[in-house]
Amino acid sequence: MLKGQNALITGASRGIGRAVALELARQGANVCFFYAGNNVAAQETLSLLAETGVKSRAMKVDVSDEQAVAQAVKEAEADFGPFQILVNNAGRTVDKLALQLSAEDFSAVLDVNLKGAFFVTRALYRSFMRQKYGRIVNISSVAGLMGNPGQAAYAASKAGLIGLTKTIAKELAKRGVTCNAVAPGFVETDMTASMPKAALEAGVAAIPAGRIGRPEEIAALCAFLASPAASYITGEVIRADGGLGM
Ligand code: NAP
Repeated sequence: MLKGQNALITGASRGIGRAVALELARQGANVCFFYAGNNVAAQETLSLLAETGVKSRAMKVDVSDEQAVAQAVKEAEADFGPFQILVNNAGRTVDKLALQLSAEDFSAVLDVNLKGAFFVTRALYRSFMRQKYGRIVNISSVAGLMGNPGQAAYAASKAGLIGLTKTIAKELAKRGVTCNAVAPGFVETDMTASMPKAALEAGVAAIPAGRIGRPEEIAALCAFLASPAASYITGEVIRADGGLGM
């Protein structure tokens, strides 16, 4: 279904991003991905992508670095040609009660989760307009919809990402470009593994489905939104959370 298309995914060395990369590749898309610094994990993703037979490339790019993003996107386009799919997935947390959260903590989270998505989107914006086609999927979070104690910066960044999603959706709707957000609940990745056990258990206990999500369950939704079939869905936020946000 995605054969011949090119996808750029941020943060695909691990977790949800890796699952998205593999699902898009299974559907035929070539995959270029950015990661922060975990070379071993990036190589693992590349090996898994190679099994699917598509063209793939990993680039160590800090999405919060405006110049690095612009340069890397240029390089990726020279290698792959234009991208039809962008998944802004790279993310990080600094979890502390708001009282203990420093200005530096707050900025560090906003810089990656929100400004990073903006920088990559802007770098591909003209190309999407020229192609009169594009699929942008931003990975937000139920924390951005509901708030979450200890996650002031993270929740703010993920709520901001929803505002960015809707704005880009409106700006590019007439050009055949869609922009949607996916809001996962708790998903089994390194991010949740690093949470205090009690907080994770309490979170999972509140999920109507009664279990944590798998990265593949988020990837399936992302792949649909990234496909030509999702042509009339834009500016939408779709929860994939086992009912947590109901
Ligand atoms: P993860 O396992 O911690 O992986 C994070 C990924 O982002 C890694 O590939 C990491 O690269 C990359 N990354 C981090 N900072 C970056 C930067 N500055 N520049 C480029 N890449 C960077 O996270 P995850 O759980 O898969 O989460 C993926 C996305 O889903 C995030 O946006 C997260 O907020 C969101 N989300 C996750 C959950 C959950 O329960 N897991 C729930 C809701 C939303 P390295 O491997 O090189 O470090």
